[in-house]
Amino acid sequence: MMHRMLQLDQYLKNNSQFLLIAGPCALESKEQIKTFLDGADELGMLRAGVFKMRTNPDSFQGLGKEGIEIIRELKADKPFNFVTEVTDPRQIEMLDSVVDAYQVGSRNMYNYDLLRELNSLKKPVIFKRAFSATVNEWLNACGYMPDLGEEKIILCERGIRTFEQTTRNTLDINSVIYLKQNHNFKVIVDPSHASGIKSMVRPLCHVAMASGADGLLIESHPHPECAKSDKEQQITINELNIIREELKKLSAFYDKEIV
Ligand code: PEP
Ligand code: MN
Repeated sequence: MMHRMLQLDQYLKNNSQFLLIAGPCALESKEQIKTFLDGADELGMLRAGVFKMRTNPDSFQGLGKEGIEIIRELKADKPFNFVTEVTDPRQIEMLDSVVDAYQVGSRNMYNYDLLRELNSLKKPVIFKRAFSATVNEWLNACGYMPDLGEEKIILCERGIRTFEQTTRNTLDINSVIYLKQNHNFKVIVDPSHASGIKSMVRPLCHVAMASGADGLLIESHPHPECAKSDKEQQITINELNIIREELKKLSAFYDKEIV
């Protein structure tokens, strides 16, 4: 097990750190997460969905409270940073003791009551772009979290909906470059939802670093073929570790430190 305790507030203040966040789309079992943590090299933060926002209401919705308890137990064993999506303000009471950052998913970018609630908590928020939001709408939505502001909001570009049908979404790399050139938010890239195709994740990770992004949020599963959600886009732990090694080499050129 190589994961370590990244100092999140230091990352937020630092301009040269590149944060690797990875983990399965959905938290499915304790064993799944343990296997992931044991196998993934030097992970800055674990991601795993506890409350899933599924397009189809009959799809797996996440373990909910049971998932939170699994994270609590694993953290007690060996601490790590954890981010998960919050989909309803009523989940906050349950989640707050186990999350180090909250994720707002694409479908909730416009959920201003949720954003106001998160604003009052003062914890970092990974704020995903709605799949049909313009960059200005995304930035305006940040205005609902004024106490977090550029210091504590991490924007996550996860691809937008275009006329293109060959990939799940279209990664708007322009938005990353634009935001880095014109604002002081941290900006990370989610290559998994942006493409929906596992073989595209690795090159998109390289592209993200070249674009000036401050990190990545990658879906990776011990057994992607058995994943209960998003199995087409999840990469193996081994693939994740290879990507990390490659990014380490690239980071010398881009003057970044992988955390
Ligand atoms: C996710 O990160 O698991 C997710 C549901 O992504 P998005 O909100 O970008 O669709
Ligand atoms: Mn997913």
